[in-house]
Amino acid sequence: MSDCIFCQIALGKVPSEIAYEDDELIAFKDIQPLAPVHLVIIPKKHLRSLNDVTPENERLIGHLFGIIRRLAGEFGVAESGYRVVANTGTDGGQVVGHLHFHLLGGQALNARIG
Ligand code: AMP
Ligand code: ZN
Repeated sequence: MSDCIFCQIALGKVPSEIAYEDDELIAFKDIQPLAPVHLVIIPKKHLRSLNDVTPENERLIGHLFGIIRRLAGEFGVAESGYRVVANTGTDGGQVVGHLHFHLLGGQALNARIG
């Protein structure tokens, strides 16, 4: 989608600090990091949110979580711990309408949810 910032990143039309990329996924550093490690992991395919995930996407989402685990190791937070967040919809605080997962770590994160 041409008006979607994350589609533009996936297409390489908007620059980002890429941490991982393959045919289906891209992971990049969040432009406004909330923790020392703050990556955004997205499917290149435009899905609006978790609400768009169907059984056909299950393999893709499984692959995505495998890459999150790998990135946690590469960025040195696998042992210290990290958080994976998928803000969904208005009340979930989703700002960018392209399915994405935040990987946050590198410091003790606020334990509060919500
Ligand atoms: P969310 O509230 O879950 O929709 O979060 C969207 C995230 O995308 C925010 O943490 C933004 O800082 C991040 N973001 C928006 N535009 C960019 C960009 N061009 N490059 C990297 N991260 C971005
Ligand atoms: Zn998109």
